[in-house]
Amino acid sequence: MEKRFVYADNAATTKPDPRVLEAMKPYLTECWGNPSSIYSFGQDAKEALNKARAKIASLMGCDAGEIYFTSCGTESDNWAIRGAAYANIRKGKHLITTKVEHHAVLHTMEALKKEGFEVTYLDVDEYGMVSPESVRNAIRDDTTLVAVMYANNEIGTVMPIAEIAKITKEKKVLFFTDAVQAIGHEKINLHELGADMLSCSGHKINAPKGTGFLYIRKGVGIRNLIEGGGQEKGKRSGTENVAYAVALAKALELACEQMPDLERVAAMRDRLIHEILAKIPDTRLNGHPTQRLPGNVNISFDFIEGESMILLLDSCGICASTGSACSNNSLEPSHVLLAIGLPHEKAHGSLRLSLSHETTDEDVDYILEKLPPIIQRLRDMSPLYNA
Ligand code: PLP
Repeated sequence: MEKRFVYADNAATTKPDPRVLEAMKPYLTECWGNPSSIYSFGQDAKEALNKARAKIASLMGCDAGEIYFTSCGTESDNWAIRGAAYANIRKGKHLITTKVEHHAVLHTMEALKKEGFEVTYLDVDEYGMVSPESVRNAIRDDTTLVAVMYANNEIGTVMPIAEIAKITKEKKVLFFTDAVQAIGHEKINLHELGADMLSCSGHKINAPKGTGFLYIRKGVGIRNLIEGGGQEKGKRSGTENVAYAVALAKALELACEQMPDLERVAAMRDRLIHEILAKIPDTRLNGHPTQRLPGNVNISFDFIEGESMILLLDSCGICASTGSACSNNSLEPSHVLLAIGLPHEKAHGSLRLSLSHETTDEDVDYILEKLPPIIQRLRDMSPLYNA
């Protein structure tokens, strides 16, 4: 096949949708007033902000008053965890999370530990799944918050969030889920789900980077992370980014409309998994075989160093990612792959391909044509493979 550009790193970020850019543009060019200003030019911006909030709420099955705009998934995660930990400090200082969370959660937990909180990190099984029973068993009288991600960003495993929510409700402990990777891929109705807080990041669903929201269930009080002019009902200050709020609402609307197409995406995922495992020996699938995000493929190749694989794929025009080393500015292999029990060398040789609605069968064919010789070439150079 002729060389082509194949973007298979949608878990890292997605292409801004032209319809999203079109929807937000008027709020940068014409209606750019400050929504807190009382003159009508400002109030027009406020109306757009309110409409965006209402649209998101109706798509997520919650009330508009429960959606707070933030600057990204990381901010939402930090706010939910820190805010809940400090708001409930009189009840206790024990927090529960899993070993496979995104660093936005894990590093916030680490920071809280330094501030005197105690954190339990739950194990996951070989598929990256946390058991609801382990959550139940970890809850103590002084536990105030459980944080379990909806779907894993590396291996795509979708967690039993509704079941965990039932347990935390029964135990009267707050439950936060980082849904950054799940939104747009999983059907979520917040009032049915039962989580107290949920985070979203716009750039994973074709909105610009720097957009996000935090859902906080009515009646749940958490401490502010950002103080200032009292926007977002006094809970998240900073002049409202109307254009980005409009973009996020439009992106979410499109993601929900496109959900039926996820079956096609999942079929491409399954074809990739099946054919890579069949064509290339000494490989294994990481993540759950069925409870996984529709676009996520994560495979470990023995005797391979992840970065070399990414660079050779790049030379063929394929964007992908690895859970190894320097690609993430660290020399450690992915904490997620280690948590599911992979030894260091296998964790270093992992490849994540994350597909989207834009991925085509031809893209899949192209990856399947280019990948096997790349793996062979790298293995031929490996002293371990030839030993
Ligand atoms: N949580 C998860 C599961 C993610 O995958 C990411 C981004 O990769 C984040 C949080 C952080 O989101 P943002 O890039 O919007 O800060």
